[in-house]
Amino acid sequence: MFNKILIANRGEIACRVINTAKRLGVKTVAVYSEADRNSLHVKLADEAIHIGPAASSESYLVIEKIIAAALKTGAQAIHPGYGFLSENAKFAQACHDNKLVFIGPPIPAIKAMGSKSAAKTIMEKAGVPLVPGYHGEDPSPQILKNAANDMGYPVLLKAIAGGGGKGMRQVWSEAEFDNELDAAKREALSSFGNDDMLVEKYLTAPRHVEFQVFCDSHGNALHLFERDCTVQRRHQKVIEEAPAPNFSAQLREKMGDAAVRAAQAIDYQGAGTVEFLLDQDGSFYFMEMNTRLQVEHPVTEMITGQDLVEWQLLVAAGERLPAKQADLKIHGHAFEARVYAEDPYNDFLPTAGKLIGLKLPETNKTVRIDTGVVAGDEVSPFYDPMISKLVVWAETRALALNKLVTALDQYNISGITSNVSFLRTLASHTAFANAELDTGFIEKHADDLFQKPTIDSYVVLPLVSLFLILNKSKADTPWTKINTWRLNQSNTQRLTLSIDQQDYIAEIEHKPSTQSYRINVDDNSYDVAGRYVDGELQATVNGHNQRVTILKSLVGYSLFIDGQTIAFDIAQRDYGDAQDATSNSHFNAPMNGTVVDVLVEAGSRVKEGDSLIIMEAMKMQHAIKAPSGGCIVDVFYAKGELVDGGSELLTFTTDTASDEKP
Ligand code: ADP
Repeated sequence: MFNKILIANRGEIACRVINTAKRLGVKTVAVYSEADRNSLHVKLADEAIHIGPAASSESYLVIEKIIAAALKTGAQAIHPGYGFLSENAKFAQACHDNKLVFIGPPIPAIKAMGSKSAAKTIMEKAGVPLVPGYHGEDPSPQILKNAANDMGYPVLLKAIAGGGGKGMRQVWSEAEFDNELDAAKREALSSFGNDDMLVEKYLTAPRHVEFQVFCDSHGNALHLFERDCTVQRRHQKVIEEAPAPNFSAQLREKMGDAAVRAAQAIDYQGAGTVEFLLDQDGSFYFMEMNTRLQVEHPVTEMITGQDLVEWQLLVAAGERLPAKQADLKIHGHAFEARVYAEDPYNDFLPTAGKLIGLKLPETNKTVRIDTGVVAGDEVSPFYDPMISKLVVWAETRALALNKLVTALDQYNISGITSNVSFLRTLASHTAFANAELDTGFIEKHADDLFQKPTIDSYVVLPLVSLFLILNKSKADTPWTKINTWRLNQSNTQRLTLSIDQQDYIAEIEHKPSTQSYRINVDDNSYDVAGRYVDGELQATVNGHNQRVTILKSLVGYSLFIDGQTIAFDIAQRDYGDAQDATSNSHFNAPMNGTVVDVLVEAGSRVKEGDSLIIMEAMKMQHAIKAPSGGCIVDVFYAKGELVDGGSELLTFTTDTASDEKP
């Protein structure tokens, strides 16, 4: 075994590799870009080397810098993780040339699987079934079109150098063939610098089932069963599971054999994944082989009890596989959900930014979280916006699915938009529970999945009111500025709350004898009591004990309930009132952001609730509103200007400065 390895990666996978290395007593070297100076993987490693600016083309992808870091620190081997240089034959060659072990397959195997068409030719010879299609020597447009016409539509065009779903186009009729081919070629050329295409039959409702294979340098080869990665968006995996549901032992044996044959056909060593399409009728077809550790490898670890990174290190160090095929058994069921900083309700746009609050489910043997970030970190726009992977295990699929939903509920992220609530909706969908799966699952159920779940504000109201009351002495809330509480002899306070941008006026009566409060909103009345400890509000609302997480957010607070995130704060009108009890109100920016519109000017007369200035931060707009009728004295910012949180935006004279206060 090695004494020291370098991990040529970042984020969760770098941390995950370091963890196994530590357990095995292997020292670790991290590399980091400028953006990752304070990242978790750097802190976890024994040593770390700075390799350049944030852009990966100037850091994590620069072969010479990685090799130099390994030589400088005396690392004997390099683990490439996934992505970046993990399937780059030139990098593997550079390791070899510098007497460093590349923890991955032999160079010819990487090259053989680097082209989708060459890979298919090899697999065809090895007797591995392929999707019908043309992947031959001559990828000229006419040949491809003839092949498409012969096999019948729909067909799928794929870039032979493709990956990540790019350069791929469905064609539904001969009439649209030429246009689609041109478009696919353009995309392939810009993404991969190679516009050669292959064409294959497009299966309309297949499943994606892949096999984890492993081979050593002593001629041993086996598989560690399958993963079902059918639930995808734009050909990218969202939730993966193992074993595949509704999958017979015979099919497992047949596909497992084909996968091992595929690996042996290219004299494979190390960890690899053979991806298949599984059609409705049980036919399966080789799609491609990934010559690295996959993102979703933990589900395999959960059902087999093996550590695949340990296996990788053993094989790379020249040792034998630690198990034989017959020793391996499937135990229980595992799911992985990929938690990303992205907005599923806005075309899955990445939402980089600061993770202001991050509270994760408690981990144990059956709930595992692989992550590379902690609260306070930035999710950088330079890299994959993954926050973490959530992996759960239980005896059966149904129990594991329950556990997945529960864990997603406990996944509390504030400051940036994440896909957690989308994942929760997906995992709770009846068709998913029934394993009615094909790769079009998300599109097919889009109406259910993309409907933003809503929570009744009246369920949330007593909780957020209580939180604001309990928190009123903390320096960072506007309550410190309001001050009316102690002056208030009737012990009744009026508070305007903003919950998901809707305002509510709550009347709060303090009952000192029972340390409780009566809250009246519209026609609803609540008796509440409780405490807020370590981000958790423990509340009793009308005799119902509840625990919910509340974290500070970019603007105001986030409450997490039933898998949903509710944004709330004291309404702008109360900030306004609070800031000057006599006549002038000063409006300060509640966040760093941009002024997208200024709706008033010095001298403008406004009514209560009129919007004065619109600010935007993290793609969210926030209106600064007039707390009452009055007159604008001065405006300090213009449309388009950047504003620091806390800066004064405008001053305002109220007509009746104190009519809000009892
Ligand atoms: P990439 O390398 O770009 O990720 P793959 O060949 O691995 O591309 O395919 C990605 C996904 O595209 C698959 O998981 C599957 O959902 C879909 N796909 C690929 N080939 C076909 C096909 N012939 N018919 C239907 N869907 C396909």
